[in-house]
Amino acid sequence: MSNKQFDVVVIGAGPGGYIAAIRAAQLGFSVACIDEWSNAKGGPAPGGTCTNVGCIPSKALLQSSEHYEHAGHAFAEHGIDVAGLSLNLGQMIKRKDTVVKQNNDGILFLFKKNKVTFFHGRGAFAGAAGAEGYPIAISAPSNETINAKQVIIATGSNARALPGTPFDEKLILSNTGALAIESVPANLGVIGAGVIGLEMGSVWRRLGSKVTVLEGLPTFLGAVDEQIAKEAHKLFTKQGLSINLGCKIGAITTGDNNVKVEYTDAKGEAQSVVFDKLIVSIGRTPNTNGLGADVAGLALDERGFVAVDDDCKTNLPGVWAIGDVVRGPMLAHKAEEEGVAVAERMAGQHGHTNFNTIPWVIYTSPEIAWVGRTEQQLKADGVAYKAGTFPFLANGRARALGDTSGMVKFLADAATDEILGVHIIGPMASELISEAVVAMEFKASAEDIARICHAHPSLSEATKEAALAVDKRTLNF
Ligand SMILES: Cc1cc2nc3c(=O)[nH]c(=O)nc-3n(C[C@H](O)[C@H](O)[C@H](O)COP(=O)(O)OP(=O)(O)OC[C@H]3O[C@@H](n4cnc5c(N)ncnc54)[C@H](O)[C@@H]3O)c2cc1C
Repeated sequence: MSNKQFDVVVIGAGPGGYIAAIRAAQLGFSVACIDEWSNAKGGPAPGGTCTNVGCIPSKALLQSSEHYEHAGHAFAEHGIDVAGLSLNLGQMIKRKDTVVKQNNDGILFLFKKNKVTFFHGRGAFAGAAGAEGYPIAISAPSNETINAKQVIIATGSNARALPGTPFDEKLILSNTGALAIESVPANLGVIGAGVIGLEMGSVWRRLGSKVTVLEGLPTFLGAVDEQIAKEAHKLFTKQGLSINLGCKIGAITTGDNNVKVEYTDAKGEAQSVVFDKLIVSIGRTPNTNGLGADVAGLALDERGFVAVDDDCKTNLPGVWAIGDVVRGPMLAHKAEEEGVAVAERMAGQHGHTNFNTIPWVIYTSPEIAWVGRTEQQLKADGVAYKAGTFPFLANGRARALGDTSGMVKFLADAATDEILGVHIIGPMASELISEAVVAMEFKASAEDIARICHAHPSLSEATKEAALAVDKRTLNF
């Protein structure tokens, strides 16, 4: 029996892969998508890192833990007295798992709706391209080989372990273990003060852990606008996160129920601290394990990413790669945009991913979100700019919400007033940033935003006021 033949086979059903598969099917291709992720019962769990152990479960726990913290601290100010507050961590984790499952099932439904054939198992190149395209072998439970005229590799990334300290997910945790701790650790260590470390640290601090973050770099959130990063450092420290910068990690030793971390602090002094659990969040590595890259002759770059050009084309004709497994920011929406663009390019259209307008979000409390260049980048690039900031303290909706921390900051070209960057720390920054993304995509000026009517009372008025601040004419501050 000959192999099933598809126009497009997508390997990996994370946000990059499943979106690419759907867009390719919309464009009239016959499409298969292969993913190896299994749920606890051994069934398929499409959605990748993002859905299973990343964006979605972390946001579920961030939400639950924020409710818990509010019930314990913030509700009283609103005149709501909560007696007998207690934490049911089992239920919190169960809810998170339900949210994940809803997303897994949603993707399987979307595949059906769009006539994408889904295979559960690991997909690997079984040889070079022949007359019928690339043979792709799929492992159990699907166990079959299919042919692909074109292939999209969307195999994502894995958590990077510290050298000599593999994850056991009991004491030394990657994001996977950090999202499934069974009882709140009294003392939690986090190595790496990046997005994942801060989000995971926030969850467990809100639930009662004493959280110590050890970061190797001397600056806090170096990719974030300095003014915003300083504000974040101040607020997170006030919340009780112990953030230690410039640490050089030494030996890590595990006992039966604890982990000892030895390190040299920023002053060069030797330190030793014992944690109940340790989250290691020092970055992620591209995942090309078992993909058969060598069999097909697929080129990887020096850091192990699948090598691609600006259009996500690999060195093999008809083979594309997107998302975390290629260069660029490791963000779900970047993976999705690349997936759509590749499907459209395959159909002869001009799909495009604008790397200058990809928003970044850190879902701490307050949230941090930004798009475009930071003030330090503009200085380094020698660009003349004007800055305008507006604090949430002066925003009526923020006062009503009881969440007035942070600010909106605009950076605009000194000569043309074009918006070059928008940086927000504050309530719902993840939602507010969309306006700035749209504005930058349309090359708007700060004055354009300042002249647009914004609903009152809303947090978005802080965005308008920050745009007015660029011209030194705020109305409410
Ligand atoms: C804790 C955490 C929180 C995060 N929060 C956010 C956030 O809030 N916002 C955001 O934008 N990003 C977030 N990210 C990053 C985001 O999850 C990734 O950028 C995104 O998942 C990348 O998508 P992808 O499709 O490239 O790969 P992945 O999501 O990693 O999916 C790859 C899929 O391919 C499968 N696979 C791999 N090899 C094979 C093979 N040979 N055969 C079959 N299947 C294979 C894998 O099992 C997986 O299902 C977070 C990450 C973590 C860890």
